[in-house]
Amino acid sequence: MPLIPSMFWLIFDYFYHSIKIPSHEINLSKSPLLSLLIALSVNAQANYDTVQIKPSKVAEQIYMLKGAGGNIGVMTGREGTLVIDNQFAPLSNKINGAIKTLDPAEIKFLINTHLHGDHSGGNENFKKMGVTIVAHDQVRERMMKESVNARTSKTTPPRDKEAWPAITFADKLNFHLNDEDIILHHFDIGHTDGDVIVQFKKSNVVHTGDAFVRYGYPFIDVSSGGAVNGFINTLDKILLLIDDNTKVIPGHGEVATKTDVKKVRDNIADIRDQVAAALKKGKKIEDITSLGITDKYDAEYGKGFVKGKDFVLMVAENLKGGR
Ligand SMILES: [Zn+2]
Repeated sequence: MPLIPSMFWLIFDYFYHSIKIPSHEINLSKSPLLSLLIALSVNAQANYDTVQIKPSKVAEQIYMLKGAGGNIGVMTGREGTLVIDNQFAPLSNKINGAIKTLDPAEIKFLINTHLHGDHSGGNENFKKMGVTIVAHDQVRERMMKESVNARTSKTTPPRDKEAWPAITFADKLNFHLNDEDIILHHFDIGHTDGDVIVQFKKSNVVHTGDAFVRYGYPFIDVSSGGAVNGFINTLDKILLLIDDNTKVIPGHGEVATKTDVKKVRDNIADIRDQVAAALKKGKKIEDITSLGITDKYDAEYGKGFVKGKDFVLMVAENLKGGR
């Protein structure tokens, strides 16, 4: 029996892989919760029409755009525009329109911080506009193949060829554009195995993708190669890149500071250490969730789609699996 409820994975597939919930899973009389989810999902789809893309200035020539899905980063300048992430496909025209109001110049590059659909859903549309897509090697690898959710055995088909990144790299890639040095870092497996952190060196701005989020407990996508120890290691490496003046654009949520990143890192490490200690004592995974490990964090982090119990399970299964 799966320890993490299938409801969680349905929501996950819907938002992260933009997968429609198959009709044979809809049995309204049997599952009022599922029917509620379907209603929410249908709503979410229809609501793309009402989504507004709102830019805010982060530094000279650097902006953050909010809409629905992951935060978008934009750098403008005389040599062209560079974009980080692109939310869901139905929003591409609105996103392009919002970017053009900041600067009408051509969009030259689009960086995917990782493969999830709420960050890369518009790849096909931007490629058609002539934009060069850049990502970690593993993002392209995974987009090219059918994926299987290890927990639910559900398969996700490959992404359309038009969505695949044109330029990929393993550890580090430098851009020199608009008099700025832009460094793409891959530190470790964490949220997925293809996470990219984008650093604007002179502007002192970092876009973390979902390696750092502000919606609550982070999600570790083990099916896409993620791991809790690497997640914490990635946060440690981000902390080495930034200082007290760095503007941190998270994968989701408002612009943050080094203090915010450090706090999340320490709290996740605390939970990881407590789960590891319980496993060492021989406790069963299902018993570890009732130890109250996340009680003191739930008020702050439990409002997102990953609940404290889900997170403890994720960490425990991850550590037990030797990751
Ligand atoms: Zn993600």
